[in-house]
Amino acid sequence: VSRKDCPPDVEQLGRSSWTLLHSIAATYPTNPTPTEQSDVTNFMKLFAKLYPCWVCAEDFQKYIEKEKIKAGSRNEFGNWLCEAHNAVNRKLGKPTFDCRFWEERWKDGWRDGRCD
Ligand code: FAD
Repeated sequence: VSRKDCPPDVEQLGRSSWTLLHSIAATYPTNPTPTEQSDVTNFMKLFAKLYPCWVCAEDFQKYIEKEKIKAGSRNEFGNWLCEAHNAVNRKLGKPTFDCRFWEERWKDGWRDGRCD
């Protein structure tokens, strides 16, 4: 049986979850309705509650309390999420990501065409 068919560890769960979250930001409207804004905000709060890694979930809920979710536009939400991911990166001693490039990483692909 290949390793990819085993239950996910914290790292694999994390990579898959960030992929989902940044992809939600990538498809979030540039001009969201009040309902779309409250939907994504409620989703993030529930996500932080239900995230299946206890310490991660606890810290992420605290982060959301401190740094209010910004969902007024795709740009706002994408940047908020990028900063949230960077906070986790810092906690884990990983390099931070330059948030000016979140759309190239998660929405449009890199300018040099390496994702084509
Ligand atoms: P990941 O951090 O998973 O990132 C995947 C890819 O996203 C990177 O390769 C990069 O291309 C891109 N990226 C990196 N930073 C950013 C950014 N700021 N914005 C946009 N794109 C970016 N693990 C723990 O051990 N302890 C925890 O407390 C913990 N808390 C977590 C909380 C949440 C909400 C989530 C979703 C995950 C958490 N994790 C935690 C998992 C951890 O964040 C990583 O996912 C895991 O360690 C695997 O790391 P990685 O190096 O593969 O890259």
